[in-house]
Amino acid sequence: MYDIIIVGGGPAGYSAALYSSRAKFDTLVIEKMFTGGQMATTDVMENYPGFEEPIGGSDLALRMEKQARKFGTVVLNDEVIALDMDSKIKVVKTRSNTYECKALILCMGAYPRMLGLDKEEAFRGAGVSYCAVCDGAFYKNKTVAVVGGGDTAAEDALYLARFCPKVYLIHRRDKLRATKILQDELFCNKKIEVVWDTVVEEIIGQHGVEGLKIRNLKSNTSSQIDVDGLFIAIGLNPNISLIEGKLQQSQDGYIITDERMQTNIPGVFAAGDIRQKYLRQVITAASDGAIASYSAELYITENKW
Ligand code: NAP
Repeated sequence: MYDIIIVGGGPAGYSAALYSSRAKFDTLVIEKMFTGGQMATTDVMENYPGFEEPIGGSDLALRMEKQARKFGTVVLNDEVIALDMDSKIKVVKTRSNTYECKALILCMGAYPRMLGLDKEEAFRGAGVSYCAVCDGAFYKNKTVAVVGGGDTAAEDALYLARFCPKVYLIHRRDKLRATKILQDELFCNKKIEVVWDTVVEEIIGQHGVEGLKIRNLKSNTSSQIDVDGLFIAIGLNPNISLIEGKLQQSQDGYIITDERMQTNIPGVFAAGDIRQKYLRQVITAASDGAIASYSAELYITENKW
């Protein structure tokens, strides 16, 4: 039996793993895809302290994993398919095995929201993408559109402008939500055209994205733009399929914890983007992970396992 199992290998998960393995608790991280989660899909990070020069998201993620492994964290690449959290011993079932632990830290993060357009799902990988860093290079010398007005949309548009001569940033309002530094960069970039007060009504194309039908919400007029790619960056949904209905959640599904990252089930903690919180950043995910680990350590010690 492990002392602590951490589900999810993003900044929250690896920060928790670093703290718990360094404190000599047997720690297992289970990650179904790749190290870093969403952080790994970030091209460069300028707002994680300690790196005067920007660091790539996947580079930072790999460093976090390496640092946790150095103190004894075991990392497993497998998908968790069920959690039994009600007994004192928590049971984690993966596709290939079953593991037990004294405390569980949930760091499954969040995934990009869909616009809900016809053809959106069908054209995923054929012009529709939710990750500019993953797919941007396929659009070299092509015209693309990004939908959204937050940090992700702004970063995606700036990233894509490195490859593409023309990037539309389509936003439903007349103000961006993105931080000012990103907005300043956007407005200076001649390849990026912000299309204000506008929504995408339809994806045009037979076998892949060829254009978009868009509608200006102020004038209520529709028009068409030719694009080869559509990058959707309209926010996140928490990855809650494993815990739905088992833990206390906010209206939009995020896990509710106290400031010690404790959920409503003793011995079960949550950290990072999956948690109901004010600011979702790599640094706040890492902070959550450290707190969750400390709380899990206390929980184990106080329960005199
Ligand atoms: P977000 O901040 O929630 O922004 C989502 C954007 O999409 C908003 O502008 C929203 O418009 C728009 N939107 C939502 N639903 C829409 C719909 N159905 N149709 C059209 N537009 C829609 O999401 P995010 O940009 O992915 O960021 C998520 C979190 O990660 C944030 O806390 C963000 O600060 C953080 N993040 C930080 C960094 C960084 O620090 N470098 C980078 C990426 C993300 P409205 O503005 O009108 O609501």
